[in-house]
Amino acid sequence: MSLSPQDLQRLEQALLRRRAAVLDELRRETRDEDGLLSLPSHRGESDRGVDFEMEAVDLAQSLRDAGEIQAIDAALARLRDGRYGLCTDCGEAIDAQRLLAQPAAPRCAACQQRFERTHASA
Ligand SMILES: [Zn+2]
Repeated sequence: MSLSPQDLQRLEQALLRRRAAVLDELRRETRDEDGLLSLPSHRGESDRGVDFEMEAVDLAQSLRDAGEIQAIDAALARLRDGRYGLCTDCGEAIDAQRLLAQPAAPRCAACQQRFERTHASA
């Protein structure tokens, strides 16, 4: 099964909607009017340990969101230049079902598994 022009259109809409939602979330989390990440400013203050823990969690979430925006932007760029749906690692077509479930997926399932094995994080 390969992607029809209608599928591609639907996927682009899904990517744009997801991008807007994540950006919105990022702005709320960081409370920075420029939409930039604001880093915790009291790192190292021992009496603010609990607050720092909280902010560290928030920050980790914000960084994940920022990473998702990058993945979405990369997918939109691939849509524009006609490379969408091709694995960025091996160049083979990514399974359509995988893309419909995960429109920003840059890799086929096999390459993603290899990527996660080599870039394993705790
Ligand atoms: Zn691949």
